[in-house]
Amino acid sequence: MNATASIELPELNTMLSEQYLSGIVIVNREYAEVTLNKDGLKQEKYRRKLAEKRNPLSIEQGPHFRYRFPSNDVFVTQFYEQQKKLPEKDQIKVETENRSDMVAVFIQWGLFILMFVGLFLLMRRMTGAGGPGGQIFNIGKSRAALFDADNKVRITFNDVAGLDEAKEEIKEIVDFLKNPTKFTRLGGKIPKGALLVGPPGTGKTLLAKAVAGEAGVPFFTLSGSDFVEMFVGVGAARVRDLFKQAKEKAPCIVFIDEIDAIGRSRGRGQVPGANDERENTLNSLLVEMDGFATDSGVIILAATNRPDVLDSALMRPGRFDRQISIDKPDIMGREAIFKVHLAPLLLNEDVEARKLAAQTPGFAGAEIANVCNEAALIAARRDKDKVDMQDFQDAVDRVIGGLEKKNKIISPEEKRIVAYHEAGHAVAGWYLEHADPLVKVSIVPRGVAALGYAQYLPKEQFLYTTEQFIDEMCMTFGGRAAEEIVFSRISTGALSDLERITKMAYGMVSIYGMNPRLGNISYYDSKQSEYSFNKPYSEETARMIDEEVRKLIEHAYERTKVILSEKREQLEIIAQELLTKEILFQNDLERLIGKRPFAQETTYQAYINDSNAKAAKASNEAKSEIIIDLEKK
Ligand code: ADP
Ligand code: MG
Ligand code: ZN
Repeated sequence: MNATASIELPELNTMLSEQYLSGIVIVNREYAEVTLNKDGLKQEKYRRKLAEKRNPLSIEQGPHFRYRFPSNDVFVTQFYEQQKKLPEKDQIKVETENRSDMVAVFIQWGLFILMFVGLFLLMRRMTGAGGPGGQIFNIGKSRAALFDADNKVRITFNDVAGLDEAKEEIKEIVDFLKNPTKFTRLGGKIPKGALLVGPPGTGKTLLAKAVAGEAGVPFFTLSGSDFVEMFVGVGAARVRDLFKQAKEKAPCIVFIDEIDAIGRSRGRGQVPGANDERENTLNSLLVEMDGFATDSGVIILAATNRPDVLDSALMRPGRFDRQISIDKPDIMGREAIFKVHLAPLLLNEDVEARKLAAQTPGFAGAEIANVCNEAALIAARRDKDKVDMQDFQDAVDRVIGGLEKKNKIISPEEKRIVAYHEAGHAVAGWYLEHADPLVKVSIVPRGVAALGYAQYLPKEQFLYTTEQFIDEMCMTFGGRAAEEIVFSRISTGALSDLERITKMAYGMVSIYGMNPRLGNISYYDSKQSEYSFNKPYSEETARMIDEEVRKLIEHAYERTKVILSEKREQLEIIAQELLTKEILFQNDLERLIGKRPFAQETTYQAYINDSNAKAAKASNEAKSEIIIDLEKK
């Protein structure tokens, strides 16, 4: 074939209009090969161009030029448009041709063959070397880690503090495996599974690990998310494989952590069909759990902190027969957990687990472990030989509120507002009979948002009365009321307070039926899905609810202002003390403004003052809370 020179569209157009062309061939819908006619070949400019590419003797032979067009269709339409304007005899012959480029074809085939060989080698490696994980042909294998005699966990029940009831239950399950006849002799059946339920960080995983350490039977452990893979059907295959392995190793225990990853109730809050894969996995889990007999010697443990989202089929007896609930520890539990985590530290004599437990209401085991570790780090940073109580105090503050902002610039004026605001809460609460007692109040700025915080200790109770709600609202108003009384001006600092108050007021009126005008009616729907826009009451009722809420809140605010005006002196004392000391505890308040005028001693105080342990044990302060106050804008 003859070499061609490339040209651009304007040149081609000239050739067309001057009638220098004899024909055009469109090749592979990619370019056009242009052949000149006799007139065209006489043109000096074209001859010169061609002479660069080929020897002068073959210049006459077409095709001569090549035009690579950006788009076949555009070119063809434009070309025919032009052609149409010309008289018939001048029109040029256009052909289309498909040519295959031998070199390109050869390269394509070569690549194809190479790929095939590569794939073949890869497959041989994958099936041959058979190690665990990550390999395509093992994808349906379960990812469970197995602990048995050769591969031991060293955590024991002694590492798990508190949780006595949970430990009992779990120990019993281990007994079932070791000595089944003891239990089945009277006709009972051994449970198939137990579900550990509780808030994050309360030691569910830890407890399961301890079982692995103590059971003396093989222990498979994996997490709910280990079943999930991007390929369809893998989860179900893994479930089947897990149970197959478990049956081979029976008697044994299988532990599925964070089971909510697969156990979420089917078809809930999602587009239909959107998550078939997870459903399949769950179904196969249900089938497998039904499939093995109770005497097969496999017991399934699972843990979750979202029992509410679990599918009810999972929870029915015959699968997870037992639910072991693990709550946040009470003061005794916290003391025990502190003891476990204090043990490896080098401590100063003034560190007492009991005091620390008293200062950390609402902490879960994980937070306590964190406090102990932080304290050790803080002490090390201060070049101390031993960790002392001050380090622990700072660690608690840090875990609650985030890092202390040493260099955070707060104007003295703002600092005063914060101090009076917090003092307002403290004083109001002190003189309100049903408000929760204060544990600690701090105006050290921390973290990103908090300028101060107050920590309260809710009473050991589960039922709230109207009076308690109202006192609680008043105490929460203490901050803003103090600001208004002292500075005659309010700030944005009360945002989170107002939010809490509004929630409480709406709760009283529309949920708990505590409003005389609306009566004993509750618009709360426990079955309601999370996204529901229609309200179950009329416009008129809505207006009534709003009015009553407003009234309630106004009353509470007025009442708070009255209390604080009466106790203006005490407010002043506490605020001044806060400004100098920054952190005050309950006993500081007692020292400064006297005991609370309400005689009743809580079981909690009983426990701190002396170890009336029985009383404290009966109590449950799972609801203790920390209120980070004073949002910074
Ligand atoms: P989860 O309940 O979320 O699974 P973990 O078992 O992972 O919580 O607990 C996290 C950490 O908290 C543990 O590694 C342990 O250090 C500490 N912890 C929690 N509960 C206890 C407890 N009862 N006794 C001792 N340490 C605990
Ligand atoms: Mg866990
Ligand atoms: Zn406040």
